[in-house]
Amino acid sequence: MSIVTHTWAMWFELLLAAVTALALVFVSAPYGRHDTDGWGPRFPVRLGWMIMESPTVVLFTAIYFSGAHRMEPLPMVLYSIWMIHYVNRTFIYPARQRGQREKTMPFLIVLLAFTFNVLNAYVNAGWIGHYGRYQSASPRFVFGVVVFFLGFYVNLRSDAILRQLRTKNSATYSTPHVFLYEYVSSPNYLGEIIEWFGWAIATNSLAGFSFFVYTVANLAPRAASHHRWYQQKFKAYPHERRRLVPFVW
Ligand code: NDP
Repeated sequence: MSIVTHTWAMWFELLLAAVTALALVFVSAPYGRHDTDGWGPRFPVRLGWMIMESPTVVLFTAIYFSGAHRMEPLPMVLYSIWMIHYVNRTFIYPARQRGQREKTMPFLIVLLAFTFNVLNAYVNAGWIGHYGRYQSASPRFVFGVVVFFLGFYVNLRSDAILRQLRTKNSATYSTPHVFLYEYVSSPNYLGEIIEWFGWAIATNSLAGFSFFVYTVANLAPRAASHHRWYQQKFKAYPHERRRLVPFVW
């Protein structure tokens, strides 16, 4: 692995975050409730999720275990928490999603997400397994890990609440009213953002920071689109509910 290539990749991910945020101001990524025709060939949703997220498990593991620090305890902790999130996201989450049996998504989404995940796996696994140095668990490291798990809990619980809104084969939408849905339209995205904020703190690196910024760039505009969509679809949608950040936005 070349450190020059890796450094460029970290900066490129930041640049990609800016491009993504700008693009998503003009167009909602066409999957789920914002899916529309006209995006080319289509692909089954569940398989699409598994394929597009697979680099975060397979490639991440291959890169991590080819790194010089692979057997050190703190990189191992970071590797493990990444896997806790991404084994769920890649295999468990898509298998448990409801109302997706017949659904498809544009292949373009699968391709773009897969490509981003290749880059992100290289950036983050390369950092924690090879270029970063983690010799003792600083308070910052521990705090970052705690924040990560707080976000993981919020994300997991919020996704579960959405799942429970549907019976096994229904694909209808309704208004969630429990947990952080009382305050925001997309607490699953809020949880995801908190997780990668924790990751950025724990890794104390440009690698972690660029992934955190990318996640905000990707999910904040989508949370705004979801909020608008809820308000248009449900006339009695709660007024006080915000998009993503309780009481603020
Ligand atoms: P959504 O909130 O749009 O949808 C999640 C699931 O719940 C989908 O199966 C959706 O069905 C269903 N759903 C959503 N709202 C309702 C409702 N009101 N009533 C009934 N069912 C509903 O999330 P995403 O699909 O965008 O993302 C899924 C997960 O992946 C999230 O945890 C997110 O944080 C994460 N993610 C992370 C990204 C990152 O950059 N790190 C990028 C994208 C996602 P349907 O698909 O039919 O709309």
